[in-house]
Amino acid sequence: MANKVYNFSAGPSVLPEQALKEASAACMDFANSGISILSMSHRSKPIGDMFAETEQFLRDLMGIPENYDIVFLGGGCSLLFCMVPMNLLGQNATADYADTGVWASKALKEAKQFGNVNVACSTKADVYNHIDKNLKMSDNATYLHITGNNTIYGTEWHSFPKPKSGYLVCDMSSDFLARKVNVSDFGMIYGGAQKNISCAGVTVSIIRKDLLGKVDRNIPTMLNFQTHIDAQNMFNTPPVFAVYVMNRTLKWLKDIGGVDVIEKINREKAALLYGALDASKIFVGTAAKEDRSIMNVPFVFNKEIVSAEKNDELAKEFLDFAKARGLQQLKGHRSVGGFRASIYNAMPKEGVQALVDCLGDFEKKVLG
Ligand SMILES: *Cc1c(COP(=O)(O)O)cnc(C)c1O
Repeated sequence: MANKVYNFSAGPSVLPEQALKEASAACMDFANSGISILSMSHRSKPIGDMFAETEQFLRDLMGIPENYDIVFLGGGCSLLFCMVPMNLLGQNATADYADTGVWASKALKEAKQFGNVNVACSTKADVYNHIDKNLKMSDNATYLHITGNNTIYGTEWHSFPKPKSGYLVCDMSSDFLARKVNVSDFGMIYGGAQKNISCAGVTVSIIRKDLLGKVDRNIPTMLNFQTHIDAQNMFNTPPVFAVYVMNRTLKWLKDIGGVDVIEKINREKAALLYGALDASKIFVGTAAKEDRSIMNVPFVFNKEIVSAEKNDELAKEFLDFAKARGLQQLKGHRSVGGFRASIYNAMPKEGVQALVDCLGDFEKKVLG
């Protein structure tokens, strides 16, 4: 590897170097057993202990109360999109869903298979460039579903809406542990791990104990959250390695001071990058200012400076310019275009500074 690389990928994404080193070492020898973690029985004591520790780290970091269970499952967040309504939403019941992005709309599409869905807001017509906080909720909803951070569009709920009835359910895939949240404000928090807390292969569900077992339908054993709660996440072979990468990532987060500390750093990083975009002549952020995400920062060329004809060629030039400095994976999502810098927990401030310098230097190169 030549020079230092900063990976701005939206997911799977950057992880703490320390966690990667420890996870790599465990592939050769886990817990001084002489056996690779990849080859060790999930029923063994070292793995059982590691699962318990991972759960405890998560409880400590997020302040998860005793009346919430934690489930680690494979299948990705997309499987949870269907498991959530399958386990929580009765056939004749209604759930409110805030349509704030593609992930939100995928979640509500699944819910329609299990009960009634009321779309409480949608900003689809504006390519989800902001969050409509004026929710039209039903009188008797079982829950209100939101997406904490809209990974593709770079918008984030900065204060969480209060459900009119029922409880709040949140897909927190891309801002898990990025900022302090009060778990008791939610009935359920869930998400894929590969954005901020581990590699792909595991999801995290945090579920208030009293919410399960209320729907009158047959739930396949594997898709029933209660199965995994009862079996302490060992009903079948769980994604052990992905849980270990999470364990090491959470340990890193604890070591640097926990969520309060990382939130402060995340806000500094976001302010640095948005400040540079706001001061730039050639680049502009695409998300509404009041909803700007502290995790994903999409930006495009200013149309008044860069004509539509020149856009694609100059975009390629910028991505090459950035890559030559070790700044990688900055291409935007196809639905927004342009660029996106994901500045998750493990992205150091130096990486964001290097990007800010790169934006400035590229502007000078183009505009003189
Ligand atoms: C990436 C992402 C998903 C999808 O996760 P998979 O694990 O790939 O299914 C869902 N929700 C949000 C907010 C995401 O960022």
